[in-house]
Parts: sequence; C-alpha cells; structure tokens
Amino acid sequence: MKIAVLPGDGIGTEIVEQAVRVLGALDLKFEMETAVVGGAAYEASGRPLPEATLKLAKEADAVLFGAVGDWKYDKLERALRPEQAILGLRKNLGLFANFRPAICYEQLTHASSLKPELVAGLDILIIRELTGDIYFGQPRGKRTSPDGNFPGAEEAFDTMRYTRPEIERIARVAFEAARKRSKRVTSVDKANVLETFQFWKDVVTEVHKDYPDIELDHMYVDNAAMQLVKAPKKFDVVVTGNMFGDILSDEAAMLTGSIGMLPSASLNASKQGLYEPSHGSAPDIAGKGVANPLATILSAAMMLRFSLEQEEAAQRIENAVKKVLSQGLRTPDIYSEGTTRVGTREMGDAVLKALG
Ligand code: NAD
Repeated sequence: MKIAVLPGDGIGTEIVEQAVRVLGALDLKFEMETAVVGGAAYEASGRPLPEATLKLAKEADAVLFGAVGDWKYDKLERALRPEQAILGLRKNLGLFANFRPAICYEQLTHASSLKPELVAGLDILIIRELTGDIYFGQPRGKRTSPDGNFPGAEEAFDTMRYTRPEIERIARVAFEAARKRSKRVTSVDKANVLETFQFWKDVVTEVHKDYPDIELDHMYVDNAAMQLVKAPKKFDVVVTGNMFGDILSDEAAMLTGSIGMLPSASLNASKQGLYEPSHGSAPDIAGKGVANPLATILSAAMMLRFSLEQEEAAQRIENAVKKVLSQGLRTPDIYSEGTTRVGTREMGDAVLKALG
C-alpha cells in the first residue's frame, strides 16, 4: 500500500503530521512518501504541482493531502497559485467522485448554529461530481457580448455541460454508496430551468433502474439549500453536480458546527483517491499548534476504507476519535466550557492512545 503524503501549506503540515502518526501506529504496512505541493512547492520549484509530486501521486494507491494556499500568493497569475495544485491533481488522477460526509458528533451538537434537536445524530453523505459542469466546461472567457441584454458590452461567460457517461458514473457511485447506508439517494438538480440538469435528472432516473433496492428522489437545488437548514436529517446520500455540490457541501459542513472535523475523499474509477480535510490552510492559525487535526485523521480513515480496503482499521480510527471527544478533549475551534482545551499535537497523542 503506497501513500503519497502531500502536507502543503499553513496548518497542512501540522495536521498531516498527526494523521501520519496515527497511520503509523496501526498494524499495517504502508510505504509513505512525502512531497511538496501548493505554496511550498511554488517556493521550492516555481510551480504549485511539480512533475515529481504529480508522479508520486499517480503511482500511489492514495494521496493524503493537507491544505494549500496563503493570502501572500493571491497576486500570482492564476496558473501559479497554490490552489491550482488541487485542480491539477483532480484532473490528472481523474478524481470525479467527491465524498463529503457531514456528521454531527453527539458530543458537538452545541457547536452547530442550528438547534441541537435538528442536528443530533446527523449523518449525511454528499457526493459531488468533481471534474465536469460549469467549472470545467468550454468555451469560457471574456468577449464583446453578441446578444442578450446589452449587445456590444464587455461580458464574461462559462459553459455548463455534462455528458451522459459523466452523469451515469457519478449516479452509480451514489447508488452503490447508498447500498452501504440507508438505501436512499436524493439527486439535486435545477431541471426546471437548466437543460443540463434536466438531462442530469433523466440520466439519474435511467441509471436508477439498475438499483431497484434504492429509493431515489429528486430535489431542486434551491429547495435542497432550504431543506438542509430546515430538516437536514431527512437526507442520507445526496448526489449532485460540481457547482451545486460545492455550495451544498459547505452548507452541510456548517450544520455540524466545525470545519475542523470534516474529512473528504475524491475517487477515480479505479478507487485511487485523494483524501483531505474539508477546510483550507488556515493561515490565521498556522504555526501556532492549535489547528484541529481530526478532519485529517478522519480523512486517513476514509482512505483506509475506500482506497486501501482496510475497513477494520478505518473503524478503529473513527472510534478513537469518538473516544477522545467523549473524554472532553477539544482544540480551540470546538472548545466549550467544561471541556479540556488541547493543541494539535496533544490531540494527535490522545487519538494514538485511544486506538488502544
Ligand atoms: P480556511 O478553511 O483555511 O479557514 C477558515 C476558518 O476556519 C479560519 O478561521 C481558520 O482558522 C478556521 N479553520 C480551518 N481549519 C481549521 C482547523 N483544522 N482547526 C481549527 N480551525 C480551522 O479557509 P480560508 O481562510 O478561506 O482560506 C485560507 C487559505 O486556504 C486560502 O489560501 C484558500 O485558498 C485556501 N483553501 C485551500 C483549500 C484546500 O487546500 N483544499 C480549501 C479551502 C481554502
């Protein structure tokens, strides 16, 4: 089992270190190799995703990724910015399926901005298509408007598009995932307005014929955004396109109250994956030893489950995380009165101890 470890920038290095310690404590044999990515790679080689890093990622079974970015790179031309490394990895590894669980741990219900009874026990899995849609569709650019409300005016445009195979494969990923959960999928679209998402809905409905054991319903994205804050527990697996998924998965993350707790996985057709916390490089707290490493540690658990087929080890890590929360240990982002405030490394130590 070969793991490419790409810590990146800011708190990335601190939190990945803890996840690597946890992986190292399991009775499993990994080959782990570290490489620079993002701003750190730009400093070292002038590029956010150097050839050597990409090669390492391609050859690995899985990539454990920290986070990239810092405000100081905002003035660089787009292609050189740290965030381009993530897009490059997604594209080169064909990572089309993004899994974003939004789990509200019993011990942290108070951290949500919603009433505890709305989020207690929340366990949603958002599956976002990651390599298509308006984020990648061509043509895009700036031009003189040929028609519309202001012909002749300067305009910018992007193209929303999906092919049948792209929709079919993400729908299958969602139905398969639902089989391992409560067998319900909500497909989110905007079929009432957009051709692309009428097609999305039609194709998802066709693919559903192969999964008669799964219950499928369709919801418009505006309604889904409302329902997520009104009655989030109604959802189980949600499947949607790249842009809607981007927005809804962050909304769902906030229901749980803490971005420092949420892992993510991005997979390709051969189950090779990139595993990273849902948050960014948090330059505001980098180097202070206070970042919450649990999202990254839980991402490592997802890596064991999805890419390395080590379900038992994945559960061991997840149970250890629950145990440290029950012990009342909290990094500052999830701290509340009556609990014990710990730093990044101490939290890593506690998870290691709780692994048993
Ligand atoms: P962010 O997620 O880095 O931080 C948002 C807020 O959450 C900050 O106050 C931060 O301190 C806090 N936070 C985030 N993770 C935390 C953790 N593990 N523990 C405790 N607190 C945590 O988002 P941002 O501030 O908008 O972006 C910072 C940089 O990260 C930017 O350069 C952005 O482009 C980049 N970014 C990278 C990724 C990625 O690598 N996948 C994702 C999002 C943003």
